[in-house]
Amino acid sequence: MNVKKITVIGAGIMGNGIAHVAAQAGFETILNDISKEVLDKALASITKNLDKGIELGKLTEKEKYSTLINLSLNDNLESSIRDADFIIEAVPEKIDLKIKIFTTLDKTCKPETIFTTNTSSLSITEIAAVTNRPQRCIGMHFFNPVHKMKLVEIIKTLETDETTIRTTQDVSLKMGKEIVTIKESPGFITSRINAMIGNEAFYMLQEGIGSAKDIDTALKLGLNHPMGPFEMVDLVGLDTRLSILEYLHKSLGEKYRPCPLMIQYVKAGRLGRKVGKGVYDYSNEKK
Ligand code: NAD
Repeated sequence: MNVKKITVIGAGIMGNGIAHVAAQAGFETILNDISKEVLDKALASITKNLDKGIELGKLTEKEKYSTLINLSLNDNLESSIRDADFIIEAVPEKIDLKIKIFTTLDKTCKPETIFTTNTSSLSITEIAAVTNRPQRCIGMHFFNPVHKMKLVEIIKTLETDETTIRTTQDVSLKMGKEIVTIKESPGFITSRINAMIGNEAFYMLQEGIGSAKDIDTALKLGLNHPMGPFEMVDLVGLDTRLSILEYLHKSLGEKYRPCPLMIQYVKAGRLGRKVGKGVYDYSNEKK
């Protein structure tokens, strides 16, 4: 299937990065969010990242210009999706919200439009089942920051058809990504392992085994992880990580029970870099 028009729903941490790589790959891209303020912030962040690319010699002024020309912002869902060939949903990790969006997509989009979700852990089969086209639904799991991270994990459900798989692989490759195509299972490959490591790190912090910095340093220098688990969770967002763990706990069992200390951080509003404070404090960092 020939994809020209992509709509990204949700312009938060992930959505703005996905819209960036889609527009840069030459797709006519609409970035949708319920909040005008979020859309403005997303455009500012994309522009900043494009400028950084130019500064590093990875991008030309002309490529920046054509990326921005390919990108438009829209805070109305129906008009954002009506003509799209390919949808990438990146709203918060809440099953009811994703189901509501997929129901609207199914009612409004062309019959051939492919629906993808960037969920980190939820059942794509369950989300797809509310549509009349489960064979055209698939998972497309990007990583943060999207414009830098190489991988897209493509997750096929019980019903996904070959055209949808091939089209999603083509779109991902055109965006310059490497792909792995896997069968659906809670947390896929990356979220399941990452959530487990991050949760264990919180249990160690709770038990007073070491400071957050000690634990991060041990994993970086001893195990060669490029980031420590607390640096990582601050980037992902503690609320997002907690939702993933709650889902893995429900679907895969006891070993994924979220650490009480992580729940406390979320209750305190320490959600990570996006709010300036998570496990670490970023309030003094230059914006
Ligand atoms: P986020 O909270 O930063 O952004 C979500 C955006 O969706 C917000 O801007 C919000 O205004 C918008 N939104 C809410 N309801 C909407 C609606 N009805 N219509 C349109 N927009 C709406 O979340 P995020 O971190 O970008 O995560 C989005 C998805 O990507 C989640 O499913 C998450 O699990 C997944 N994910 C996150 C990461 C990560 O590192 N943060 C990595 C991979 C996948």
